[in-house]
Amino acid sequence: MSTERVTRLLPATPAGLQAAARCLANGGLAAFPTETVYGLGADATNPEAVARLYAAKNRPQFNPLIAHVGDAAAARELVCLDAVAERLGTAFWPGPLTLVAPQTGNCGVCEIAAAGLNTLAVRVPDHPITRELLKALAKPIVAPSANRSGHLSPTTASHVLADLGGRIDLIIDGGATPVGIESTIVACEGDTAILLRPGGIARAEIERVLQAKLLDPLGPRCDYTLPPSAPGRLASHYAPRARLRLNARQVNPGEALLAFGATSPPDLEAAIAWLNLSATGDLVVAAANLYAHLRVLDQSGATTIAVMPVPTEGLGETINDRLSRAAAPRRPAQVA
Ligand code: AMP
Ligand code: MG
Repeated sequence: MSTERVTRLLPATPAGLQAAARCLANGGLAAFPTETVYGLGADATNPEAVARLYAAKNRPQFNPLIAHVGDAAAARELVCLDAVAERLGTAFWPGPLTLVAPQTGNCGVCEIAAAGLNTLAVRVPDHPITRELLKALAKPIVAPSANRSGHLSPTTASHVLADLGGRIDLIIDGGATPVGIESTIVACEGDTAILLRPGGIARAEIERVLQAKLLDPLGPRCDYTLPPSAPGRLASHYAPRARLRLNARQVNPGEALLAFGATSPPDLEAAIAWLNLSATGDLVVAAANLYAHLRVLDQSGATTIAVMPVPTEGLGETINDRLSRAAAPRRPAQVA
């Protein structure tokens, strides 16, 4: 399937949003901001559009996508939400929480979007542009991050253009995304909730609502079957071109530095470029800056980006998850 096409960059005006809704309705691919990162949208009920989306992202087709809907009622048309899922939806929707639950009998989302599974990942996003598009299309939209598979997720329209320009129909420029990292994914099975991917809502917030611990899909007391090679769980993912050296307390000559907190390493002048995720040590700000800072440091030409330690509490769990995947040895296709 050819992925070559002219990509239009449109402002987030009523006319721009109308063009995006028309594009999606006609089976096209439109990128737009969500509160997490920029998503690459396609009509979730149109198998050809979804197939084109997999091709544009170069994403393996057995990796399931998240269906975005306008509210919990629309989510209930797609999946069976039991008591635990309802409680999480009520607490965190609209927002950066994705729930995985069994599909309803008449879900309508095409097989290829759910990669043939009988469960589906569903989210109610909390960004005015995404919500506007969902309202205009009046159908669920699959919207994985608008980058080629394995690359850093985009938090601005120019990141999307750089990675997917010429492969998708249009991009709505709605400024930088506020959360900056992907949604937290929780699978709900009976009265258990399983954390499939840390994300924009911290584990502790979810556990407070559940008044129970989230289970680890690979841990004890959990017989959850993960879909094969779900990309957000691959060892190497979300990766810049440069190597990452984690938990760095000093800078080696020629490295770029990704700092965190008020105290910089003593040998800062050895860095060929440096940025701070948050000088005040604010993990929400650090999450919002993560991908954009990695991109800028990657463009400095450094072969290694030294990353100072980031605490693991709150959104720090998600930031460390993404950093360790970005630091992991690459699959051959990602090195190119
Ligand atoms: P993204 O690539 O950020 O859109 O995230 C999609 C992720 O959602 C995939 O990588 C999977 O980890 C997860 N996911 C989607 N659908 C399912 C499902 N039915 N069961 C389990 N995980 C899923
Ligand atoms: Mg992604």
